[in-house]
Amino acid sequence: MNKQLNVDPQEIAKFEALASRWWDRGSEFKPLHDINPLRANYIDEHSPVAGKRLVDVGCGGGILAEAMAQRGAAVTGIDMGEAPLAVARLHQLESGVEVDYRQSTAEQLAADEGAVYDIVCCLEMLEHVPDPGAVIAACAALAKPGGALYFSTINRNPKAFAFAIVGAEHILQLLPAGTHEYAKFIKPSELAGWMREAGLVLKGMTGLTYNPLSRRYRLNEKDVSVNYMVHAVKPA
Ligand code: SAH
Repeated sequence: MNKQLNVDPQEIAKFEALASRWWDRGSEFKPLHDINPLRANYIDEHSPVAGKRLVDVGCGGGILAEAMAQRGAAVTGIDMGEAPLAVARLHQLESGVEVDYRQSTAEQLAADEGAVYDIVCCLEMLEHVPDPGAVIAACAALAKPGGALYFSTINRNPKAFAFAIVGAEHILQLLPAGTHEYAKFIKPSELAGWMREAGLVLKGMTGLTYNPLSRRYRLNEKDVSVNYMVHAVKPA
């Protein structure tokens, strides 16, 4: 397969259509805003980001990218959506946070730059691409030896279907219907397999659980049944 084609145009179109509301905390992107401090803390605790080169793969409007730059990382943000990148570039003018945004796939950036990043993040993106294993391999290629990688996605099981699709899209309407496709969800064992194939070592995993009553998310290492995040390293 031509590596540059590991992009699903329909998936990109979904995010293009919503992009103008990316920084609106009450919009479809509310869940990303709500989980952002949790995931930013998780990354910064395990891999202090200040002074490090960090790439955010599938950065969208830049919610994580800006948070990492605010904590002192030199951040490159890549996405294949033009509208999300345009929003990200405008928002940094408002926030004064500097991020280098580029339209690229992980595969292309790895071919262009090689292993130059201390930290590679790819959050809430793998469940939107045709070949997640190839993205993980490209992320591994972007990391310096000894570098850290963070991936997050949604597990695939009946509970994840009930929470992430029926609950989030249809009952609570946190996300537009059709945002996620059940078949593209990824089991931790599958993610771990792709990471192994890419030569990465799994360091940790945590769930991100949502309580519909308190409407709060929290990190929960004991529950990776729906949303979860993994930490890996590329051996030195
Ligand atoms: N990572 C961000 C945004 C997640 S939304 C966050 O968690 O806050 C998923 C993003 O992935 C969208 O902006 C979409 O345009 C992008 N995307 C989907 N497929 C991609 C691909 N193959 N390469 C790069 N970006 C992609």
